[in-house]
Amino acid sequence: MPADEDAWLAKTGAYMNRRLIKGCENKMENKTIMQFFEWYLPANSLHWKRCSAQAKALKEAGIDTVWLPPAYKGAGGSASVGYDVYDTYDLGEFDQKGSVATKYGTKDAYLQAVRDLQEQGISVLADIVLNQMMGADETEEVMVEEVAADNREKEIREDIRIRAWTKFNFPGRNGKYSDFCWNATNFSGTDWDEAGKRTGIFKFQGKEWHKETDREKANYDYLMGVDLDMDCPETAAAVETWGKWYLDTVHMDGFRLDAVKHIDFNFYREWIKKMREHTGKEMFTVGEYWSADLPRLLHYLDVVENSISLFDVPLHFAFQTAATSQGGFDMGSIFNNSLVRARPECAVTFVDNHDTQPGQALASFVPEWFKPIAYAFILLRQEGVPCVFYGDYYGIPHDGISPMAGLKTLLRLRRDYAYGQQRDYLDDSSVVGFTRAGDEEHPDSGMAVLMTDAAAGSKRMLVGKHFAGTRFFDGMRRCSQPVVIDENGEGEFQVNGGSVSVWIPEKAYEKIYVQVE
Ligand code: CA
Repeated sequence: MPADEDAWLAKTGAYMNRRLIKGCENKMENKTIMQFFEWYLPANSLHWKRCSAQAKALKEAGIDTVWLPPAYKGAGGSASVGYDVYDTYDLGEFDQKGSVATKYGTKDAYLQAVRDLQEQGISVLADIVLNQMMGADETEEVMVEEVAADNREKEIREDIRIRAWTKFNFPGRNGKYSDFCWNATNFSGTDWDEAGKRTGIFKFQGKEWHKETDREKANYDYLMGVDLDMDCPETAAAVETWGKWYLDTVHMDGFRLDAVKHIDFNFYREWIKKMREHTGKEMFTVGEYWSADLPRLLHYLDVVENSISLFDVPLHFAFQTAATSQGGFDMGSIFNNSLVRARPECAVTFVDNHDTQPGQALASFVPEWFKPIAYAFILLRQEGVPCVFYGDYYGIPHDGISPMAGLKTLLRLRRDYAYGQQRDYLDDSSVVGFTRAGDEEHPDSGMAVLMTDAAAGSKRMLVGKHFAGTRFFDGMRRCSQPVVIDENGEGEFQVNGGSVSVWIPEKAYEKIYVQVE
């Protein structure tokens, strides 16, 4: 490769393609993420310790990346899940909002959990919330325009004076790590007038909503609390300084970015670049753009030049729709509007999360019967980085939800056997599947996956001639009889009604089940 790589690539005609790949700093290969929290974890400040205690088991289960919840003090103190940001410099260290520890524990326990995960070879993603703040220490008088709740570009009252909760002085921290205090000039709007005791969407005078945000409600810059104004140089500088402090303090390996559709799309492109420059590390990053509308996700990725990944929200909704259609969903179309099909190099696939679980704002929980099918789709295919939900892995006691049956097996199947060429059989409205041919690097790898949202069925699928004569068994143990691969490398694979079977070579099957039986 010549020194002037760009000129060389331009000449070869590979420039555009390569430029996109170069822009995508995220290395996607062979990652398996776990979102290590759910909404209703007990507020006993023990979660960081639980994380330390689980580190080894997580690694053994095939998890190599863990997304931890927001670690800084929220307005709700020790009950806060972490998205009501009060003080990003308080990682459970200062007596603020009623306690020293956060819901998850103290700063020391947090740093220990990160170290314990990393010692197991697990990368840690920190949850970054830079859209809103809450729980200010004092109010200020601010001149505002009131805009319509459903159309943020439409002013309904001009020149009104409100008292807004905008002054953050952090008296409990008393200037340690940073003496930066926030006031109304750092924000662009709020939704509460303390003087009039009323709600509304109040845009601060002299401020504009960011132009490049989601177009829902005409402009969805404002979400809740007081909204950070990234066009204000002091605000942008403050979050950059903080980001570097956070990196130097915690030494995490990457980020999960909250609420990116409410933040100027140009902001994170630059912020992430600075964080990567600061550490000199890859800093794998995934953003939460909560929309089932694929073009919006692609537009965001275009603006950030594919420098981060996004969660595949359309695929989550396809799973949920399939699971609630009583067998009437066209399973062959399940990836049709997904990010993982449209831009696989930037897709983090998931089945559920802390927002989609029962009782939450975006509740759209995938029903139990369909979960193994959904997880087989995200864990066993080659495209996308899968993210396993804590609530599926450990259960959600708050709602009487048990750990998902078969999830650990699917993780094992992914880690040991989901390799090699992929062949799709998304050719039916109910019974669909895919195969992996295996590779030499992973002994006994290769599989045939078959699933249906309706009645039991079968499908002839090609796994490869190198398997001729091999007996395949269902790694999910839903079907008991083996399938023998014929001389063409094909087998007639079975699946029971409303389920998934993962057919693997006999030797692979023995390795899994000899140990546990
Ligand atoms: Ca915003």
